[in-house]
Amino acid sequence: MHSFRYLEGRLHVENVDLESLAEKYGTPLYVYSQGTIEDHFKRLDAGVAKLDHLICYAVKANSNLAVLQTIARMGGGFDIVSGGELFRVLKAGGRAANCTFAGVGKTRDEIEFALKEGIYCFNAESEAELRYINQVAGELGRKAPVALRVNPNVDAKTHAKITTGKSENKFGIDFDRVLEAYAAVANECPNLEIRGIQMHIGSQLTSVDPFVEAVKKVIPLVEQIKERHGIKFFSVGGGIGIVYKHMLDSGDATWWSQESAEKHPLTIQAYTDAIVPLLEPLRLRILMEPGRFMVGNAGTLLTRVLYEKKGNAKTFKIVDAGMNDLIRPTLYEGWHQIVPAQAPADNSTELADVVGPICETGDFLAQNRDLPPVKAGDLLAVMSAGAYGFTMASNYNTRPLPAEVMVHGSDAYLVRERQTLDDVVKGERLLP
Ligand SMILES: *Cc1c(COP(=O)(O)O)cnc(C)c1O
Repeated sequence: MHSFRYLEGRLHVENVDLESLAEKYGTPLYVYSQGTIEDHFKRLDAGVAKLDHLICYAVKANSNLAVLQTIARMGGGFDIVSGGELFRVLKAGGRAANCTFAGVGKTRDEIEFALKEGIYCFNAESEAELRYINQVAGELGRKAPVALRVNPNVDAKTHAKITTGKSENKFGIDFDRVLEAYAAVANECPNLEIRGIQMHIGSQLTSVDPFVEAVKKVIPLVEQIKERHGIKFFSVGGGIGIVYKHMLDSGDATWWSQESAEKHPLTIQAYTDAIVPLLEPLRLRILMEPGRFMVGNAGTLLTRVLYEKKGNAKTFKIVDAGMNDLIRPTLYEGWHQIVPAQAPADNSTELADVVGPICETGDFLAQNRDLPPVKAGDLLAVMSAGAYGFTMASNYNTRPLPAEVMVHGSDAYLVRERQTLDDVVKGERLLP
């Protein structure tokens, strides 16, 4: 679900008018719906209720402290990929004991930090990393809980840049080497405690089939490892895809409500219906690591049209948000619905590119898009920007990072101030 709709011709999130937020906090502006995040968490939690489970939200999708606080309050755990993300989780009121630590390149500082805080598990991605964690743990006089990430070599059928479960990807340990790697840990790494097994095959999966294929392929291995090493958990990773193309209810039928909504076979119900029966007989704690599913449709990026330029080949709507604010369109060919904050008077559309102010040809939010006739000064909402939006933003072109607002019912909270230019150059030094 998402909580964006038109009320009396103006786009709202929950009960808050987006134009009023743009006026108060400026643009570009990220706005999130807390109700949507809570709804997504509850629905997944209910879908796997039969399993002993822990939902470990993948922090990298959206790491704003208020988002993490929302998840922590609902009893969620976290999947982190850096010491920095652990720092955020702790600041937001989350517990290290509910965190798993993924990623192929953990450093000594990060391993020490996570060990001292008492992390639930290191999900290791190579034998070399396991040996290093063993060494660091030994030096600290501790035992490190570990799981191995298995690369099941299945095709997630998603964009190449967000596929992680094929042998040619850098992630995980090859399926046919995993047993050997567990044996090596058991025999040669006295400072490691084998606690689980993990996989994550990719992101934005739009069919349940690759999940089922991967789970079915890995289950016999999980059973063997449970028998030999007494593991406690199996993490099935994240990757649940979301709908990027919606029908927005506009009250008085305007143009975009006629646009057909994206056909999407992967509902949370389909996902849990398919995998829960496979996982139940394992009698293990099941971890899930959803990122995008939890926050993607909870967020929008508000941007104002600065100029319009009609060229020989194309019409460009130049807006005040760029690829530094939202990189998905240019990085992964991510498609975001773009709608005006003010419902247009009729159904007419115009073919245009929506581009930012950055000096890069790849700086666009949409290309060859049918938009209502928007003009300079109009406010646009770039939809489904809650995941991999702000977290991938940068200061490129010395543009301050945008502000972030969390909406709850009729209330709106500033959860991150807009950076100032002094913030941007903070830490830089002139030469003597
Ligand atoms: C990124 C990531 C996730 C989350 O993926 P989504 O597609 O956002 O659900 C989960 N687990 C690991 C190990 C990841 O790297």
